[in-house]
Amino acid sequence: MRWFCLLLAACAEPPFEIETDDPRGPGPAVLAPVIVDAGAPTWPRALAPLVQLPVAVEAPKRKWRVLIDAGHGAKDNHGNTGLHCQRERDVTLSIAFGLATRLNLMGPFEARLAREDEAEPSYQARKVLAEVWPADAVVSLHTDVRGEAKPFIEGSCMSWRNDARPGFSVLWSDEGTAALGSKRQRLSWAITDALSAAGFKAYDGVDYVGLYDSEPEHVGSFINRRNHGKRIWFLRSLEVPAVIVETHHALDFDEVERWSEMRTRNVFAYAIAKGLLDYFAE
Ligand SMILES: [Zn+2]
Repeated sequence: MRWFCLLLAACAEPPFEIETDDPRGPGPAVLAPVIVDAGAPTWPRALAPLVQLPVAVEAPKRKWRVLIDAGHGAKDNHGNTGLHCQRERDVTLSIAFGLATRLNLMGPFEARLAREDEAEPSYQARKVLAEVWPADAVVSLHTDVRGEAKPFIEGSCMSWRNDARPGFSVLWSDEGTAALGSKRQRLSWAITDALSAAGFKAYDGVDYVGLYDSEPEHVGSFINRRNHGKRIWFLRSLEVPAVIVETHHALDFDEVERWSEMRTRNVFAYAIAKGLLDYFAE
């Protein structure tokens, strides 16, 4: 029990005494144990603190229309391959379904999915859906692969692992009209800030140089510009505000594990809801 307390570093007891039932009495003196107060685990370690952000449950006169896009999954578009050989298209399908379901249960939202089940809609079809509905906001979900990875072999899966680059990022495009760019930016900031407030770690963007510009005031939010090497069509072409949320790093062992947990999916949904409501309220 004492060792348990020491591990927790939470018990304010007098100096450690040796207890023994041994008739020979206490054994040789032991060195005082070193108590390491590691504090709370940080994301993405197990049980890192997450906060379910409060969301106003009253439904507005008209519910906010939110299109949730499971990134990739058009024909032959599988996205990245994660460390357990999980395909990005399957991971985003699962996260998107859970997010849309939770948003619809909260009250203020009418959430639709841009991709469901076995369907393989093109990105053009998703754009049409978003604009014809029209959606008040589009959140496209992805996972990321970053940095230099080491080989990771697990059964028949030969993949890569990198535990040094965890975290979420939110991407938006500054191409198009200033009015639309401003909406995308505010949406990205609101979602970024809510995810950080909920305890998710924002990716610092060290591998994004030349692809996206970071936003130091809202760490985790990134701008995709015309002069960048990779212009993201879905972000720049939609006439309704859209952002991409890279939920996590698909090569990070712990972060992939966290995203398999119900707690993470729940907290994520409330953070996205908070971000959306903050954006709509502006
Ligand atoms: Zn992707």
